[in-house]
Amino acid sequence: MIKFLDLQKINAQYKTELTQAFNRVLDSGWYIMGAELKLFETDFANYCGTKHAIGVANGLDALILIIRAYKEMGIFQDGDEILVPSNTYIASILAISANNLVPVLVEPKLEAFNIDVLLIESKITSKTKAILPVHLYGQLCDMPVIITIAKKYNLKVIEDCAQAHGAILENKKAGNWGDAAGFSFYPGKNLGALGDAGAITTNDDNLASCLRALLNYGSQVKYKNLYKGVNSRLDELQAALLSVKLKNLDVETAVKRKIAERYLTEIKNPKITLPEVTIDSAHVWHLFVIMTDKRDELQEYLNDNGIQTVIHYPIPPHKQEAYKEWNDMSFPISELIHQTVISLPLSAVMTSEEVDGVINVLNAY
Ligand SMILES: *Cc1c(COP(=O)(O)O)cnc(C)c1O
Repeated sequence: MIKFLDLQKINAQYKTELTQAFNRVLDSGWYIMGAELKLFETDFANYCGTKHAIGVANGLDALILIIRAYKEMGIFQDGDEILVPSNTYIASILAISANNLVPVLVEPKLEAFNIDVLLIESKITSKTKAILPVHLYGQLCDMPVIITIAKKYNLKVIEDCAQAHGAILENKKAGNWGDAAGFSFYPGKNLGALGDAGAITTNDDNLASCLRALLNYGSQVKYKNLYKGVNSRLDELQAALLSVKLKNLDVETAVKRKIAERYLTEIKNPKITLPEVTIDSAHVWHLFVIMTDKRDELQEYLNDNGIQTVIHYPIPPHKQEAYKEWNDMSFPISELIHQTVISLPLSAVMTSEEVDGVINVLNAY
């Protein structure tokens, strides 16, 4: 079986260094908010090119806390609207709802899967306060256009970078385009911890200082509480493990790009639509997602031929039980995407024989 994602094999590459990092944290006797977190935050900020990187407990918290901080700063209020793509992973939308703001869904472009920038302006109202673009599957959204629209209407831009660590366009990385960005280090993401972890990047000193308090009970000085905060800290252990893996992130991405390039040039089957890539460096291939009319049939065929696949995602957010109020709304492009997508195996530890196998089996379909 060609695994969709062999996490054991991915992390085995770094076993010696990860074990050293674990031992270092164990022996230090200091497990929360110490030197490992500081070092990882500095390294990750440098990697993204931002002034600040702030470790948090997970990617959802990263997005929730950014919006929460803008509320504490008096920039957002309950009932304000944030534009978000209709085909994103549910977390991007939950982060808006969790803050009593209103998610306004915008359709994506079919083959690139990212928010259709031509539709954004028509969704802006007097209540719109921000755009939350999601760099889905690892491909940067059309950020130059999004930033131009945001400036014109005085909106904040909050990037969901959970799938796009290291994606780069015009010398600017994911997480350095907007006013703030949320990253996830969930184990299966491009940069994955050995558990839950996340980070926020920003160049805004005031936002950073508000965020640092919010994630730590609303406190900057121990036992003095500025806000009704939460506990969403990134552990020393995960920070130490992430520092090991960050060093090799670009190497892993380069391998993924080569595999994606092979898929793009060698998969030739009229029943399969390949993903649209505008600029190579702007895609870090968190997922290689194809579309096909008879998706379930293709998935079964691939499975019968020893290829494991996953659907990202089977149900669009507006059809979820959690968003009953949207169930009768229609987002045809998003619906089509959710009905036809299937994600192929793609990771830095795939052998060229495995890549051959995927291509040959798909071409024989
Ligand atoms: C994974 C993911 C998140 C949430 O990250 P967690 O660390 O799992 O909370 C948010 N948005 C997108 C697009 C994601 O893929």
